[in-house]
Amino acid sequence: MKDQEITQLAMDIGFTHTAPLDPKTLTLKPEVRQMCETNSCGQFAKRWSCPPGCGSLEQCRERIAQFNRGILVQTVGTLEDELDGEGMMDTERLHKEHFLKMNELLRNRQADVLALGAGCCTLCKTCTYPEAECRFPEKRISSMEAYGLVVLEVCKANNLPYYYGKCTISYTSCFLYNEF
Ligand code: SF4
Repeated sequence: MKDQEITQLAMDIGFTHTAPLDPKTLTLKPEVRQMCETNSCGQFAKRWSCPPGCGSLEQCRERIAQFNRGILVQTVGTLEDELDGEGMMDTERLHKEHFLKMNELLRNRQADVLALGAGCCTLCKTCTYPEAECRFPEKRISSMEAYGLVVLEVCKANNLPYYYGKCTISYTSCFLYNEF
């Protein structure tokens, strides 16, 4: 698929904003991994999608190096006020729906896609980590942070806003692929 078709697909699915992503702009940072280790999200060493199960930064770098194109996708929501937790959760749920749908559609059309989301992999109710192999190694989804990426910096480097003003919330993910 061509970049333009992939952008159109993302907009048709319902993402509010997209931007072409140059994989060469992706800088994987050990300090992001160190933040994962503090386990503030509760998923560290709990899933194959998250550190350390998702591989070393070097392995993540090698995976990213397999792709020459990418797209950033965002869902931006409006909140009633800055404490509108329901609005935040609704936007997050919507983003996840869009993201999983796009992942499925791209996988049906592209030979290989790397999807990096806004949270850990939830493909299975219970992750097999660490007792058994991942059930769907080709399909599992890591977060951008698990790959050592600072989302704000990735957006900046690819000319996509990260903040849309007071009483808005944005969720950002990306897909890497090779154009054919
Ligand atoms: S696909 Fe299943 S087993 Fe693999 S990381 Fe995701 S939840 Fe865990």
